Amino acid sequence: MLMTLTSTHEAATDLGFLLRKNPARPQSFTLSFGKAHVFYPEATLERCTVALLVEVDPVGLVRNRRGPSGEGGALEQYVNDRPYAASSFLSVALADVFGSALSGKSKERPELADTPLPLSVTFSALPCRGGEEFLRKMFEPLGYTISARRLPLDEKFSDWGESSYFQVELKARLPLQQLLSHLYVLVPVLDNDKHYWVSDDEVEKLLRHGEGWLASHPEREAITRRYLKHQRSLVDDALTQLADEAEPNPDAVAEVHAAEEETIERSISLNEQRLGSVLAALKNTGAARVLDLGCGEGKLLQALLKERQFTEIIGMDVSHRALEIAHDRLHYDRLPPVQKERLRFLHGSLIYRDQRLAGFDAAAVVEVIEHLDAARLAAFERVLFECAKPKHIVITTPNSEYNVKWETLPAGKFRHRDHRFEWTRAEFQTWANGVATRFGYNLRFVSVGPEDLAVGSPTQMAVFTR
Ligand code: SAH
Repeated sequence: MLMTLTSTHEAATDLGFLLRKNPARPQSFTLSFGKAHVFYPEATLERCTVALLVEVDPVGLVRNRRGPSGEGGALEQYVNDRPYAASSFLSVALADVFGSALSGKSKERPELADTPLPLSVTFSALPCRGGEEFLRKMFEPLGYTISARRLPLDEKFSDWGESSYFQVELKARLPLQQLLSHLYVLVPVLDNDKHYWVSDDEVEKLLRHGEGWLASHPEREAITRRYLKHQRSLVDDALTQLADEAEPNPDAVAEVHAAEEETIERSISLNEQRLGSVLAALKNTGAARVLDLGCGEGKLLQALLKERQFTEIIGMDVSHRALEIAHDRLHYDRLPPVQKERLRFLHGSLIYRDQRLAGFDAAAVVEVIEHLDAARLAAFERVLFECAKPKHIVITTPNSEYNVKWETLPAGKFRHRDHRFEWTRAEFQTWANGVATRFGYNLRFVSVGPEDLAVGSPTQMAVFTR
């Protein structure tokens, strides 16, 4: 099986330092199941590609009782896809051959190890059980752009149909260590198989290599299930540990807690006022193509759809359940085709770079930032202001000073149990000013809801323009 990894970061040959493999010297390694060869088909300052060729020895596997067993009988033990398809053997090879890069260490280029690099990876044959859609669900939320071509079973016999293998190219701007850990976990997940028996230490491996990205991956459950070969107790154990690390289950959060916030805010139907202010701000920008990021149950989408000005409307949320509710609220399936064409839903997280969000006129992020861990705000800023960078961005968040005015809200409590923070006006303005300066946006603030002389209005809104 063949994998290549290309860097176009100047100087591209620094890839050799990160991987601790000299571009001028082909090397071979003996592994328990075969051999791995590392060589560089190209190595210039502009572009450097390393190839990892893994040879799996099926006969050796049978002797060591590590090959596929059972179903296909004796023949399948000798004749199978393992030598050709990327699988858990590749993960083992990555860990063996590129171990220090996988753990993020670099003696010669420590600062480069933490730097996002323009990288692309190709696989000659990547098994994707679940098809291209599953492949996209795995990598798109992590910020990859994907091109995939399904391979025929046999090029000479087209009527045999298609195989479940894809020729794939993945591109992203990421630190090398992150890319390698994504591959280490997700290649066996796509294959939905492992060449060895999984036990407790596999949970530890998953959590270690999934650190910093798996807990908030929208498909973490599917990933965990497949990675741990569907062994219930291991899966439960891993998911519990992930839940501790992550934003709590976004679906549960959306459903259970939204009601609380609504009760607290109902007295002045703040919801509607906020919606009105956001809609007005978006209309003012003259935008035609708009994003509603963290769209929740779709109230803003509904309002946007009524305005002809908006010709392309995207609702994005990390919660599947919220998207389902939005879908139903808008009677999406029954919308006339002209309306339907204007609206699309995306499942994704705002803390991962996502090419699908690029190139829009405006984005609304309504009552979402306070749901993000403060530590993740920096990632969110880059995703939105640097990568997606719509011309206009409208962000709202509660003004915590106003909380004293809610009779039903105990002192010191947030309006919503999932809020990670609630900011005073000064705090929000400091943050927004910093962001505007760092990413080159102009900025104005708008108060939303009844304004109190001392504590201001319940919702604060910032309108950024590039
Ligand atoms: N904008 C909607 C919903 C606000 S509630 C409204 O004003 O009614 C916050 C929403 O943000 C929830 O639907 C939640 O699922 C979503 N959310 C939380 N973290 C997110 C993330 N990292 N990426 C995308 N959406 C997120």
